[in-house]
Amino acid sequence: MTTVTTKVTNRQAADAVRLEAVRKVHGRGERAVTALDGVSLTFPRGSLTAVMGPSGSGKSTLLHCAAGLEAVSSGRVLLGGTDLAAGGERERTVLRRDRIGFVFQAYNLVESLTAAQNVELPSRLAGRRVDRAAVTAALEAVGLADRARHRPGELSGGQQQRVALARALVTGPEVLFADEPTGALDTGTSREVLALLRRLVDEREQTTVLVTHDPVAAAIADTVVFLKDGRLAGRLDLSPAAAGNAAAIAARMTGLEA
Ligand code: ADP
Ligand code: MG
Repeated sequence: MTTVTTKVTNRQAADAVRLEAVRKVHGRGERAVTALDGVSLTFPRGSLTAVMGPSGSGKSTLLHCAAGLEAVSSGRVLLGGTDLAAGGERERTVLRRDRIGFVFQAYNLVESLTAAQNVELPSRLAGRRVDRAAVTAALEAVGLADRARHRPGELSGGQQQRVALARALVTGPEVLFADEPTGALDTGTSREVLALLRRLVDEREQTTVLVTHDPVAAAIADTVVFLKDGRLAGRLDLSPAAAGNAAAIAARMTGLEA
């Protein structure tokens, strides 16, 4: 009996995040929209997963539910074995703050603060002591140690997104979620940010989930999962950096959009 329990625990620990039959309905009554319709999925530790699908297929909703930004309507989300809904709203907020990192397409930096102050902000808002060494390390991790005192207006778009990434990483999150993080960037800058995400996975085993509609971006992943109408519509396991990944992903996307 003990052995069985241990096995279950170990299996859960191998998954950074586990979604079990997750349903999410936005709104109610006549205006109710089922954004996720029974999605079961795991994000293994140290892996990079891309989530793709047509516009409106539920990608952002999936990310928000997996990250505890939104409550699920039914089903469960487990973060390292902990049910995000177990302790209610307040506990979900604390779990999210302490164990999850999130970056959005819009960098959401505070214009009047320096890069370092932006990275510190979550700790300040949480009323915690600011760990300056961690702030410096996070800025170093994204290659911006020399820009710590610059304000967002003095940085390029790619640099601003890297500050947002440093802000997401400063707490050492178990999972980093990124929703179209390169959507506002030009091609060259996009590639830099994607290479950085890949490096964080390879060098730090940073579990990462990346939503994108760009096959070239998704091609950096270990696994691509496809959504359509709120349901899983396929999965592709990739050899990172292999030629032909983007083409294979694009072909699948074309199939979904048909
Ligand atoms: P994607 O990111 O793939 O474009 P979303 O997860 O944003 O898709 O949306 C999935 C579906 O849920 C869409 O039909 C969208 O209109 C709907 N939706 C998303 N957020 C809300 C919301 N806050 N209120 C009502 N409907 C929503
Ligand atoms: Mg979206």
